[in-house]
Amino acid sequence: MTSRVVVIGLAIVLVCARRRAGGSPGLDGDDRPSLRVSDPDEGVYVTSNGSNITITCTGVNFAKDYQVYWSIRKRIPPKTITSAAEKTPSEPAKYQVSRSYSNEEDKFQLNVTSITQQDKGLYICSTYYSGRSIEGAVEVRVEDVPFLHVFANNISASIGGMAGLSCEASAVPPIQDIIWQRNGETINNGTDERFYIFNRGSEMIFTKLVILNVTSDDEGVYTCIATNDKGWSSRKVALNTIITNYSDAAKDEALYQEMVKIVEPSHYKSNVVVMGTLRVTCLVTGFPYQPKMYWEIVSFGTGPMLQLMDSEERHYDDVTITTYVMENATGFYYNLMYYPVMYNNTGSYTCLVPHHAGVDKDTINITVSGAPMVVASQLSTYGLLGHHKVVLSCSICANPAPTLVLWYFNDLLISASSRINQSLTKVNSVELNATLTINTITENDFGTYTCKAYNSIAHGMAVQVIQDVDECSFDHDCDHGCENGLGTYTCTCDNGYKLQADSKTCQDVNECQLTEKVACEQQCTNYNGSFLCSCHDGWVLDDNGKTCTNTNDNSGESPDDEAIQAEEIYSIVGATSGALLIIILLILCIVWCRRKKDEEEMPMKAVYSVNTGYSGSSSEMNMTKYHSTNTKDTKISPADEFPRQRLQLGIDLGQGRFGKVMMARALNVSGFGKWEMVAVKTCRDSASDLEKEDLYQELEIMRSIDKHPNIVSYLGCCTKQDPLYILMEYVPGGNLQSQLRKCRPSQLASSGEDINTPTVKELETHALHVAKGMVYLSSIGIIHRDLAARNILVGPNRIAKICDFGLARDVEGSDMYERTSKGPSPIRWMAPESLSDQCFTRKSDVWSFGVLLWEIVTLGATPYPGMTAREVIKSVLIGKWLQCPLHCQQEQYSLMTRCWDMEPKERPSFSEIAKELEVFIESETDYLSFDNLEESEYGVLDPDKVDERV
Ligand code: ADP
Ligand code: MG
Repeated sequence: MTSRVVVIGLAIVLVCARRRAGGSPGLDGDDRPSLRVSDPDEGVYVTSNGSNITITCTGVNFAKDYQVYWSIRKRIPPKTITSAAEKTPSEPAKYQVSRSYSNEEDKFQLNVTSITQQDKGLYICSTYYSGRSIEGAVEVRVEDVPFLHVFANNISASIGGMAGLSCEASAVPPIQDIIWQRNGETINNGTDERFYIFNRGSEMIFTKLVILNVTSDDEGVYTCIATNDKGWSSRKVALNTIITNYSDAAKDEALYQEMVKIVEPSHYKSNVVVMGTLRVTCLVTGFPYQPKMYWEIVSFGTGPMLQLMDSEERHYDDVTITTYVMENATGFYYNLMYYPVMYNNTGSYTCLVPHHAGVDKDTINITVSGAPMVVASQLSTYGLLGHHKVVLSCSICANPAPTLVLWYFNDLLISASSRINQSLTKVNSVELNATLTINTITENDFGTYTCKAYNSIAHGMAVQVIQDVDECSFDHDCDHGCENGLGTYTCTCDNGYKLQADSKTCQDVNECQLTEKVACEQQCTNYNGSFLCSCHDGWVLDDNGKTCTNTNDNSGESPDDEAIQAEEIYSIVGATSGALLIIILLILCIVWCRRKKDEEEMPMKAVYSVNTGYSGSSSEMNMTKYHSTNTKDTKISPADEFPRQRLQLGIDLGQGRFGKVMMARALNVSGFGKWEMVAVKTCRDSASDLEKEDLYQELEIMRSIDKHPNIVSYLGCCTKQDPLYILMEYVPGGNLQSQLRKCRPSQLASSGEDINTPTVKELETHALHVAKGMVYLSSIGIIHRDLAARNILVGPNRIAKICDFGLARDVEGSDMYERTSKGPSPIRWMAPESLSDQCFTRKSDVWSFGVLLWEIVTLGATPYPGMTAREVIKSVLIGKWLQCPLHCQQEQYSLMTRCWDMEPKERPSFSEIAKELEVFIESETDYLSFDNLEESEYGVLDPDKVDERV
């Protein structure tokens, strides 16, 4: 029994030593200060109209005090609730903030009361700490039963004439069904040949029940009912019938009393609150028929003129404009709904009715007013010490016009100086641009900047930060750890290692020679980063891990003249710290106890730990934690779970920064009762618990993807025990990056292998396959975020398949995902908005696809040859593209550059890309010729560095 303890203990020391040796603190997210939205969990939080919500953000690993501020993104416009310059919310009835310590946790809370659709968005808690901006986030969605509006709830119609009952509905989640009922019975288009129902619109549905040839029996109450996932709501409309006896003369007279008049809002009350709904109603009378009309909107001094027909629905980003017609005995009511209105919607709204004798019209001037809306142009900017100039800007929209614009640095008002310059530029009648230019950045300039604008109604603000570049996240040359400093970095060594004179490399300390520290009483063995005390035969190591007791004597005295016990035992001592010793002993104890219990209860585990070759002790220990903190495992359906004992692992196929993919044989994985080749993805041995959770996330994503020829197929998983395995189809050709590199002229010459080199068209076909795979992924709302040649596999018949969903996220229903985890990122493939704002969309995947095309064209070169990652970031952010290789035709390069449009919206969609690639492939021309590849220009970086991430 004791010898088992010895073996396990030794394993742990070595695993720990290896982990320490491999992990640079700069990249290891575990002990970094971070903010986590813990309540509700990070992700999406769904609430309903009228509710009050509380968001809790917990700060961990902060060594000194810090302040947390709240803001909302992904809403129009973004909103800053608190900032260093304004610590309490300016709308105390709507937002309340607090901080508390409980259970040794530092908690920050934001309460939001009376939630409406306008409160949806990404709620961010952020702090500025040690030169860096740190954030936690949760997306709040507001879902409710449909909201219904009836224009008139009492309608009169002439007997023999026509009646129109209208109702409009909007809802999140969307409306599934909208119907009309009378006395509990549903009216359908076929119910009575005099009844017609017209539905129009998608997001906002407008429904109209038309009754022809009205009789007195039609009098009564009609109900409009709309249903969505959350339930249903209804509104009533009463119909009265009246007898009208138009004489022919009266009809003629009516014909000549044509009138077009805007009746709502009244000309005296044409002021609308920003972000609210604008409804303009134009009453048209005197026409014996329903006249055609159109709306004309002219924004004052800002946007272009807009024309809409009488029954339309248009969407611009989050803005919806709907027009529709209703009628009663008085006439026709033409309606225009605009939601939400912004300052630039201030303008004239004209209702125009053309007829035989000209055009009748009426105009109303609408003013949209409210507090200033302030939006920062960038959330965060890097400051390079010394030679750098930073320009911060924010756009301010307000009506009445802003009277004062102030800039704050942390909580101090900034005044102009020779180094700091402030300016204001008028963009149009409602918009101003405020800029703050700081010349020659010093370390005192790092921090939070608030731009605050006032008008006569209230004030608004926006926050941005200038942060120090994290030198450790670039190509640093530290052997072990790296510690970021302001404008510089220092290399650090793990316990048991010493920094050498070059300030970069670390050398193992021979602890056995450090008598003052170690004092192993009898024998000492040095290990990398650690050491081990042991005793001669017949002696046993004491609990202190240093001294030995003779096993032949029980008196309990020290070895010189002390008691002896009956067993030989080795034990371990942590490298330099006593604390480590205690932790290890504790772990030993837990592991051994668990192991013993598991051996008795679950004979399966023994099989698995032998199968995998993993250290049973450490993996089981992690698993316990993983399963207890993670409820996701309940989501795995039994059909997915593949019995571990039917899996035989083989050689490694590849490793990324965290994942490891192995070839394996699986028995009956596709139900044919045979052993089949599969690929198994698991964590690298040194993975942290967080990285294991990431792999779990990857599994969730893979499970949600249906089979597609251009995406690696998911086959099953082993989740019941640690380590987690994801089983997928084995793709024999390896990854595209290495395939491409094999085709380089130099490689072909040196390898001597008879490689069946792909033709140019075949390479272009790979790009087409990837585009097709991406069309599917974007259609199901998945953003890959790590699209690169190394993550494309080449299968039989040169079919390319997308793999590695390690960074992918499922963001169905939203086009934008703002990343909140602090994990590393593949910088050379990242779009500018991802680098600057951590913003990932389908369109940032399109950017990466452009880089992938470039990799194909250069036969697997490292993007941005000769540049460090830090230079890459700078160059991408100022809009510099990868150059067009000489051997690449303009057509091909033009496709890449369109993927690299600084404006994400302008980038083509994957389906457009696929169509274009199809044309390339079908055309006779070869857009590429590798005969003159300038190989020296398009070099290949060390594979480890290619995958470099910040
Ligand atoms: P990571 O997330 O760690 O980067 P990947 O999923 O990208 O891991 O896999 C790493 C490498 O393993 C790939 O570049 C590829 O060479 C190989 N690989 C991955 N999946 C398969 C598979 N299904 N069949 C064959 N090889 C694979
Ligand atoms: Mg990868």
